[in-house]
Amino acid sequence: MTMFWPALTLFLLALAAGVHVRWRAVCRRQAALARAEHERLRSAHEAGRAEILSRQDALLNSMAEGILLLDQQGIIQLVNPAFSRLFGLGADVRNRTLMEALRAHELADLVTRARGGQPVLGHEFHLQSPHERWLEVNASAVVNGGGKVQGTVLVFHDVTRLKKLESARRDFVANVSHELRTPLSLIKGYVETLLDGASGQPEVAEKFLLTIARNTERLRLLMDDLLAISQLESGGARLQLGPVRLAGLAKKVCEDFQSRANPRQVTLVNAVPDLTVRADPDRLEQVLCNLLDNAIKYGREGGTVTVAARSLPNQEVEVSVSDDGPGIPRDSLERVFERFYRVDKARAREQGGTGLGLAIVKHIILSHSGRIWAESEAGHGATFRFTLSAGWKP
Ligand code: ADP
Repeated sequence: MTMFWPALTLFLLALAAGVHVRWRAVCRRQAALARAEHERLRSAHEAGRAEILSRQDALLNSMAEGILLLDQQGIIQLVNPAFSRLFGLGADVRNRTLMEALRAHELADLVTRARGGQPVLGHEFHLQSPHERWLEVNASAVVNGGGKVQGTVLVFHDVTRLKKLESARRDFVANVSHELRTPLSLIKGYVETLLDGASGQPEVAEKFLLTIARNTERLRLLMDDLLAISQLESGGARLQLGPVRLAGLAKKVCEDFQSRANPRQVTLVNAVPDLTVRADPDRLEQVLCNLLDNAIKYGREGGTVTVAARSLPNQEVEVSVSDDGPGIPRDSLERVFERFYRVDKARAREQGGTGLGLAIVKHIILSHSGRIWAESEAGHGATFRFTLSAGWKP
């Protein structure tokens, strides 16, 4: 009995020690597991954050709109590549104020207004350099969950192309109205004079009626050209491409224009060899007619107009129409293809031109994927050249 109690005590102590050791081991394992779980969560969180940041970067970098983010003090925190491109920024502008980085009072005012709480939408900003651009700017305050303003974000949308289109449309409408008004007011004036009694004098009446007829014809031509240009621009008229033998077409056009060349004693020379191009025959005829008509109208009285063609090495054919008239000044060589552009306005109107002929010609050649240009030396005539694909590929 005397040995029993000490033995039991020893046994219990050993048991307790064993349990303790096991319990410590369990605790350590649990702590290790907890640490591993914590580490896993932390790296998952970091990976998630990195993923979000990389998506944000991809989004900002691929945006066509310029983005500018300022903090509460108006210090630049972020600009995207589109913003740097628009403003031609070479260096990093972060940590600078808007005025330091861009010297743009107008934008600084926008930021102040946006910080006031009301977003500024559709503000038009005219950027002068590095390239002239029109930008539409939206500015708004960045507000945190507690409603506190943290900064300002500005979004820049490049509307230069729209602006140019709008201005071209305005010019076009103004030009068309002007072109319509001149013959219309002449017709109106002569009709009124006839009604006022001039119809009683046959000689005067005939002269007036001829002027009315001439101006009515001018209006008709203008309407035809306007319709042609609108069809070409809207892509409404599809090209009927096929092989066109140039020599035959040039012969036909020269014959048609003989009656126009005769009154000015202009000699028409068809020097087109037997070449075939890939084109819409009606459109190509329209091109040759316009160029021949101009060469006769603006060339020298008693002069020569030549239609020629040659093969180019790159499977193309170059066609040319040249005259030996006064030519075109160097600074107008490109502009003659603009709608309503005339070198000598009075002379062109007197010749009955609509000012749209070369614009139509250029459109047709470009729609054939060809090139067109004018060459001239003052006093030595003008040559219009265009290219088309050679032959016919089925
Ligand atoms: P228009 O109806 O006035 O002839 P176009 O578009 O055909 O309009 O031509 C534009 C302008 O280009 C003409 O007004 C004229 O000033 C100039 N031009 C065209 N062809 C010639 C040429 N062969 N020689 C000199 N000037 C030309």
